Amino acid sequence: MIKNLAKRVLLDSGALRVAAKLRGKGAAIVMYHSVLEDPAREADSLGGVIHSREAFQGQMELLAKHFRPVTLDQVGRFVKGEVELPERAVVITFDDGYTDNYEMAMPILDRLGVPAAFYVTVDCIENRRLPWPSRLRFSFRTTGKKAWSDESGKIWSLESAQDREQAYLRACDYVCQLAGITLEKIVGRIEEELDAKLPDNRGALMMSWEQVRGLAQNGHIVGSHTMTHPNMAYLGIEDVRCELVQSKDRMEQQLNARVEHFSYPCPALFPNWTERTTEETRKAGYQTAVTTSNGLARRQDNPLCLKRVRPTKSVDGLRWNLESAFAGRAG
Ligand SMILES: [Zn+2]
Repeated sequence: MIKNLAKRVLLDSGALRVAAKLRGKGAAIVMYHSVLEDPAREADSLGGVIHSREAFQGQMELLAKHFRPVTLDQVGRFVKGEVELPERAVVITFDDGYTDNYEMAMPILDRLGVPAAFYVTVDCIENRRLPWPSRLRFSFRTTGKKAWSDESGKIWSLESAQDREQAYLRACDYVCQLAGITLEKIVGRIEEELDAKLPDNRGALMMSWEQVRGLAQNGHIVGSHTMTHPNMAYLGIEDVRCELVQSKDRMEQQLNARVEHFSYPCPALFPNWTERTTEETRKAGYQTAVTTSNGLARRQDNPLCLKRVRPTKSVDGLRWNLESAFAGRAG
């Protein structure tokens, strides 16, 4: 309560805006995943990444009114010193490729004239299945098993909700270091071990290629979020290249357009990018890449590891995070 009051006083005083002027220009790249009417309905699979439609709409109205929405292309060129940006520039991004991005978020964005970038996980689009962390979350939360043995043979209790969460996080730490068919095989094995598999019809939560094309046709940017959603920093070089190049190629075939933007998945462990992966994104032909590190994109940053800002779930929370980021404060 007191903390909120202190934030409110700071926001109203304009002190953060003065600090922002001193810090110089930058763009806040805001990171979203999913927007649904009732976030609680999919909490067992998608977890905490869902915004309610109401909260998202309020946040977009805030951006349209008090900030300056720009495109990701503009930010890429700003960072490279090719163009100027207005003050308080913001970019909206979505990770993973959920159907609600097309059905729920895009109509709000288009009505308010806010451009966005949507990063899709190719395997999830092609096979209409949720990213593996969501599938495993569902398995660990709904299994009737009382214990689970990890790959090293260690036994994890599944008695309490807390136990299940611990075991789930352990599984994520292991699986995020795999990629491609190996990753899919291990996820399938864990689903079998727990005898709890997310129903196939929940795959409808992921966009079809037709919907992905619809985003592009409406003027939004579509980028890659890998093939299979690993932690790129923990993969061997061949897997890194495969995730970057194959996803780009597949998307370019499907969209009949260049795909020049990439978003690093953050399924578990830290960091999720390295100097080496940055170099590989450049070699693969990407113009920008975004990470999950917190902060603004500033001139002379490396365009292939741009920071982002987390939106929180409330309008005031987003406003605070943005004003803080522009003022150069840690959220
Ligand atoms: Zn993701």
